[in-house]
Amino acid sequence: MADLTIPDIAAFGRAHETLSGSTAVADLPRVAEDASSPEPVEWRVEGEVITRTEAPEYADHIGLRLFVTAALDVPCARCLEPRRALIDIDSSFVVFDSEEAADAAPLDDDRFDPIVAQRSLDLRELLEDELLLAIDPAGTHDICSPEALRRLGLTPVGETVARIEDKPSAFDILRSLRSDGGEK
Ligand SMILES: [Zn+2]
Repeated sequence: MADLTIPDIAAFGRAHETLSGSTAVADLPRVAEDASSPEPVEWRVEGEVITRTEAPEYADHIGLRLFVTAALDVPCARCLEPRRALIDIDSSFVVFDSEEAADAAPLDDDRFDPIVAQRSLDLRELLEDELLLAIDPAGTHDICSPEALRRLGLTPVGETVARIEDKPSAFDILRSLRSDGGEK
Protein backbone atom coordinates (compact mmCIF):
# COMPACT_ATOMS: atom_id res chain seq x y z
CA MET A 1 0.00 0.00 0.00
CA ALA A 2 1.50 3.30 -1.06
CA ASP A 3 2.44 5.83 1.57
CA LEU A 4 -0.12 8.63 1.52
CA THR A 5 1.25 10.91 4.19
CA ILE A 6 2.17 14.57 3.96
CA PRO A 7 5.06 14.60 6.44
CA ASP A 8 4.89 18.30 7.35
CA ILE A 9 1.56 19.92 6.60
CA ALA A 10 2.71 23.43 7.65
CA ALA A 11 5.69 23.31 5.27
CA PHE A 12 3.45 21.89 2.54
CA GLY A 13 1.05 24.81 2.90
CA ARG A 14 3.67 27.53 3.20
CA ALA A 15 5.43 26.29 0.05
CA HIS A 16 2.06 26.06 -1.79
CA GLU A 17 2.93 22.53 -2.73
CA THR A 18 0.71 20.27 -4.79
CA LEU A 19 0.49 16.51 -4.59
CA SER A 20 -1.55 14.27 -6.84
CA GLY A 21 -2.02 10.59 -7.41
CA SER A 22 -4.16 7.65 -8.41
CA THR A 23 -5.17 5.28 -5.65
CA ALA A 24 -6.91 1.94 -6.08
CA VAL A 25 -10.15 1.60 -4.13
CA ALA A 26 -8.64 -1.53 -2.54
CA ASP A 27 -6.00 0.75 -0.98
CA LEU A 28 -8.75 2.76 0.74
CA PRO A 29 -10.02 0.04 3.11
CA ARG A 30 -12.98 1.92 4.60
CA VAL A 31 -14.26 2.80 1.11
CA ALA A 32 -13.58 -0.72 -0.19
CA GLU A 33 -16.01 -2.11 2.42
CA ASP A 34 -18.94 -0.81 0.38
CA ALA A 35 -17.53 0.20 -2.98
CA SER A 36 -15.37 -1.14 -5.74
CA SER A 37 -14.09 0.14 -9.04
CA PRO A 38 -11.89 -1.08 -11.85
CA GLU A 39 -10.59 2.48 -12.10
CA PRO A 40 -8.46 4.21 -9.48
CA VAL A 41 -9.54 7.23 -7.47
CA GLU A 42 -7.83 10.32 -8.92
CA TRP A 43 -6.92 13.05 -6.46
CA ARG A 44 -4.96 16.25 -6.09
CA VAL A 45 -4.23 18.23 -2.96
CA GLU A 46 -3.02 21.84 -2.91
CA GLY A 47 -1.48 23.56 0.09
CA GLU A 48 -1.78 27.24 0.90
CA VAL A 49 -1.66 29.81 3.65
CA ILE A 50 -5.16 31.23 3.98
CA THR A 51 -5.18 34.99 3.40
CA ARG A 52 -7.22 37.65 5.15
CA THR A 53 -9.17 38.44 2.00
CA GLU A 54 -9.97 34.76 1.49
CA ALA A 55 -11.29 34.11 5.01
CA PRO A 56 -10.51 36.66 7.78
CA GLU A 57 -11.14 34.28 10.67
CA TYR A 58 -8.70 31.71 9.27
CA ALA A 59 -6.05 34.17 8.09
CA ASP A 60 -2.50 32.75 8.36
CA HIS A 61 -3.78 29.24 8.97
CA ILE A 62 -2.63 26.45 6.69
CA GLY A 63 -5.31 25.59 4.16
CA LEU A 64 -5.76 22.59 1.90
CA ARG A 65 -7.84 22.16 -1.19
CA LEU A 66 -8.66 18.62 -2.22
CA PHE A 67 -9.99 17.51 -5.59
CA VAL A 68 -11.15 13.92 -6.02
CA THR A 69 -12.80 12.17 -8.94
CA ALA A 70 -13.92 8.56 -8.89
CA ALA A 71 -16.43 6.23 -10.48
CA LEU A 72 -17.46 3.79 -7.79
CA ASP A 73 -19.72 0.77 -7.89
CA VAL A 74 -21.85 0.93 -4.76
CA PRO A 75 -25.00 -0.97 -3.77
CA CYS A 76 -28.29 0.48 -5.03
CA ALA A 77 -30.51 1.36 -2.06
CA ARG A 78 -33.53 -0.20 -3.77
CA CYS A 79 -32.33 -3.45 -5.39
CA LEU A 80 -28.88 -3.85 -3.72
CA GLU A 81 -27.21 -4.56 -7.07
CA PRO A 82 -24.17 -2.39 -7.88
CA ARG A 83 -24.86 1.05 -9.26
CA ARG A 84 -22.32 3.50 -10.61
CA ALA A 85 -21.72 6.56 -8.42
CA LEU A 86 -19.77 9.37 -10.08
CA ILE A 87 -17.87 11.29 -7.43
CA ASP A 88 -16.51 14.78 -7.99
CA ILE A 89 -15.16 16.42 -4.85
CA ASP A 90 -13.76 19.93 -4.42
CA SER A 91 -13.26 20.54 -0.69
CA SER A 92 -11.36 23.17 1.25
CA PHE A 93 -9.93 22.62 4.70
CA VAL A 94 -8.44 24.75 7.42
CA VAL A 95 -5.73 22.96 9.38
CA PHE A 96 -5.50 23.17 13.17
CA ASP A 97 -2.63 21.68 15.14
CA SER A 98 -4.80 20.45 18.02
CA GLU A 99 -8.38 19.41 18.77
CA GLU A 100 -8.53 22.26 21.30
CA ALA A 101 -7.61 24.86 18.70
CA ALA A 102 -10.18 23.43 16.28
CA ASP A 103 -12.87 23.43 18.99
CA ALA A 104 -12.08 27.03 19.93
CA ALA A 105 -12.12 28.29 16.34
CA PRO A 106 -15.11 30.16 14.95
CA LEU A 107 -16.64 27.81 12.42
CA ASP A 108 -18.92 30.33 10.73
CA ASP A 109 -17.24 29.95 7.39
CA ASP A 110 -18.62 26.69 6.07
CA ARG A 111 -16.52 26.85 2.92
CA PHE A 112 -13.73 25.37 5.05
CA ASP A 113 -13.93 22.11 6.95
CA PRO A 114 -11.66 21.97 9.97
CA ILE A 115 -9.08 19.19 10.15
CA VAL A 116 -6.52 18.50 12.84
CA ALA A 117 -2.93 17.64 11.95
CA GLN A 118 -0.17 18.26 14.43
CA ARG A 119 2.61 17.79 11.90
CA SER A 120 1.92 15.06 9.38
CA LEU A 121 -1.36 14.52 7.59
CA ASP A 122 -2.75 11.10 6.71
CA LEU A 123 -4.14 11.65 3.22
CA ARG A 124 -5.56 8.15 3.05
CA GLU A 125 -7.82 8.90 5.99
CA LEU A 126 -8.89 12.22 4.47
CA LEU A 127 -9.63 10.60 1.10
CA GLU A 128 -11.66 7.88 2.80
CA ASP A 129 -13.63 10.42 4.87
CA GLU A 130 -14.43 12.55 1.84
CA LEU A 131 -15.39 9.63 -0.40
CA LEU A 132 -17.64 8.10 2.25
CA LEU A 133 -19.36 11.48 2.69
CA ALA A 134 -19.81 11.83 -1.06
CA ILE A 135 -21.48 8.46 -1.61
CA ASP A 136 -25.24 8.91 -1.29
CA PRO A 137 -26.46 5.93 0.78
CA ALA A 138 -30.00 6.46 -0.56
CA GLY A 139 -28.86 6.47 -4.19
CA THR A 140 -30.64 4.12 -6.57
CA HIS A 141 -30.59 3.11 -10.21
CA ASP A 142 -32.91 5.16 -12.38
CA ILE A 143 -34.43 1.83 -13.29
CA CYS A 144 -33.65 -1.26 -11.23
CA SER A 145 -33.49 -4.66 -12.84
CA PRO A 146 -36.86 -6.43 -12.34
CA GLU A 147 -34.97 -9.70 -11.67
CA ALA A 148 -33.01 -8.12 -8.80
CA LEU A 149 -36.21 -6.73 -7.28
CA ARG A 150 -37.96 -10.09 -7.59
CA ARG A 151 -35.04 -11.80 -5.85
CA LEU A 152 -35.69 -9.49 -2.88
CA GLY A 153 -39.37 -10.37 -2.89
CA LEU A 154 -40.34 -6.95 -4.22
CA THR A 155 -42.86 -6.46 -6.97
CA PRO A 156 -41.16 -4.99 -10.01
CA VAL A 157 -42.79 -1.67 -10.69
CA GLY A 158 -41.68 -1.44 -14.28
CA GLU A 159 -39.80 1.29 -16.05
CA THR A 160 -42.52 3.94 -16.01
CA VAL A 161 -43.38 3.74 -12.34
CA ALA A 162 -39.72 3.65 -11.28
CA ARG A 163 -39.17 6.87 -13.21
CA ILE A 164 -42.20 8.61 -11.73
CA GLU A 165 -40.82 7.96 -8.23
CA ASP A 166 -37.81 10.09 -9.01
CA LYS A 167 -39.32 12.80 -11.20
CA PRO A 168 -42.69 14.49 -10.85
CA SER A 169 -45.10 13.67 -13.65
CA ALA A 170 -46.36 16.34 -16.01
CA PHE A 171 -49.69 16.05 -14.23
CA ASP A 172 -48.12 16.81 -10.83
CA ILE A 173 -46.31 19.83 -12.24
CA LEU A 174 -49.50 21.16 -13.80
CA ARG A 175 -51.39 20.67 -10.56
CA SER A 176 -48.77 22.53 -8.49
CA LEU A 177 -48.76 25.39 -10.99
CA ARG A 178 -52.51 25.65 -10.74
CA SER A 179 -52.56 25.66 -6.93
CA ASP A 180 -49.80 28.33 -6.81
CA GLY A 181 -51.82 30.50 -9.14
CA GLY A 182 -54.96 30.01 -7.09
CA GLU A 183 -53.39 31.43 -3.93
CA LYS A 184 -52.52 34.78 -5.44
ZN1 LIG B 1 -31.31 -0.76 -8.22
